[in-house]
Amino acid sequence: MNGKAAIGVLALQGGFAEHINSLQSIGLSGFEIRRKQDLSRPFDALIIPGGESSVIGKLLDELDLFAALKEQIDGGLPVFGTCAGLILLANRFEAINIAVKRNAYGRQAGSFYAEAEMKHIGLIPMVFIRAPYIEWVGPEVEILAVVDGHIVAAREKNILVTAFHPELTNDIRVYEYFHDSIIRPYIR
Ligand code: GLN
Repeated sequence: MNGKAAIGVLALQGGFAEHINSLQSIGLSGFEIRRKQDLSRPFDALIIPGGESSVIGKLLDELDLFAALKEQIDGGLPVFGTCAGLILLANRFEAINIAVKRNAYGRQAGSFYAEAEMKHIGLIPMVFIRAPYIEWVGPEVEILAVVDGHIVAAREKNILVTAFHPELTNDIRVYEYFHDSIIRPYIR
């Protein structure tokens, strides 16, 4: 890692602090995006964390962040969305052509751990917390991981999504993949 990429982490609700810690552990600097002024600082990529997608979605509107972020995302900003972030990238930002089933494993008993293959990376630990899964993908979408017959990670161009939480494990390879394969090619 060259440590040069600055990564904004949407910090309205949910697991943003864990993402910033994970980024730090591979030499990338993550900073919190909490309000509109935070967008004036230049950043090379964005992470949308897990949490509650309806709450984050509401705050995006209330804090007047939605339109500015949507414009950057549509313009090719590399974005990594985990869990609620996946839901928002699909349903609110319409940035990745997938259909998502929310709380797909049930609301209460729906948290579990798995180890499964992620394309381009290998076997990785996956923590699921009231997770969605991906029910359908458009033809441009690359399926990156499948657990129990359900798609749990995918990529379309500048957008990477996982239904699980790499920020809750010590395995940093999903971040390395995001950096090396999605951020780096976009930085001039
Ligand atoms: N169930 C949450 C939602 O629908 C997502 C859970 C998570 O991000 N860990 O937004």
